[in-house]
Amino acid sequence: LVEAARQRLRRWNLTPEQVREIEESGEIQETVTLYYESHDQASEGGVVTERRAVDGQAVAEGDQLFTIADFTHLWMEADVFEYELPWLEEGLHVEIRSASFPGRVFGGTISFIFPSLNPETRTARVRVDIANPDLELRPEMYVDARIHVPIGRVQDVLARMSEDARARVPAAMGRQISDDLYLCPMLCSSGHSDSPGERCPDCGMNLLPRDEVLAQHPELISQASAEAQVSAGERVLSIPDLAVLRTGEREIVFVQTAPGTYERREIVTGPAGQVEVDGVNERWVPVLAGLRLGEEVVTRGNFMLDSQTTLTGGASAAYGSALETGTAQTTSPAAGHRH
Ligand SMILES: [Zn+2]
Repeated sequence: LVEAARQRLRRWNLTPEQVREIEESGEIQETVTLYYESHDQASEGGVVTERRAVDGQAVAEGDQLFTIADFTHLWMEADVFEYELPWLEEGLHVEIRSASFPGRVFGGTISFIFPSLNPETRTARVRVDIANPDLELRPEMYVDARIHVPIGRVQDVLARMSEDARARVPAAMGRQISDDLYLCPMLCSSGHSDSPGERCPDCGMNLLPRDEVLAQHPELISQASAEAQVSAGERVLSIPDLAVLRTGEREIVFVQTAPGTYERREIVTGPAGQVEVDGVNERWVPVLAGLRLGEEVVTRGNFMLDSQTTLTGGASAAYGSALETGTAQTTSPAAGHRH
């Protein structure tokens, strides 16, 4: 009989120590230590958020007595726009701010990106793990989240683009530009030399001075500037998204070549991100081809320029007051977004 009772106590998840204690004291215990079974290895307990049991209540195996929640690790869910998705990946650091703690920045990590979009808002849900050791943040709080995503190298931008979008990037992109003084105008890979008067071993054309070849291929110069910046600070050429006119597959900007004179130019952009400019969030895009560092692009009124077939000083002067230019910069657009 004693052994049967012992077995029964063990089945209730009492430890052998607890059973021995009951046996040795020979008394009915008023309290029993409850052991909390955690699904999270890192967790060491939590806060009782719900109590279902009352004093003196008989309980059966499997009854839920308490709900214990561990608030030292919280989840935050954020909605991000569809166009921001290509920049996001699990493991990215997230800055979290709460109106309850002005000036404080909490840290989190993207732990999951939900596979489908919300059909009404066209947003995707991202789950962020937050360490909350001092239990300052509370469930159901509203917080601001900012995800910093460095665009980094041209190759990283290319990797984030879809197959279709990548197909539009000129083949020359991503190719190492030779430092040689003479290059093949067709950009053949072996068409380069340090001495004048040579022919390209691939296509037979005369090699031309490097500057002449680069002038014919603005995408190479754009890449060269981007590459130069990459070594300086992991940055890529980018411009405000407003400057880009999209007609079908083509992306057009107007470049100011002289005051009041604009050149229509096709460019190739990567996925857009948010950049903080003077404290205001703007949508910017990395430019993979077609633009050089420091060139001025029209950011306002460009749609009016687009309706003109030819641009003359006269035509642009007429729209002069409506036009605003911005400079191609190397910035790191970050897909940051307030929630
Ligand atoms: Zn060649």
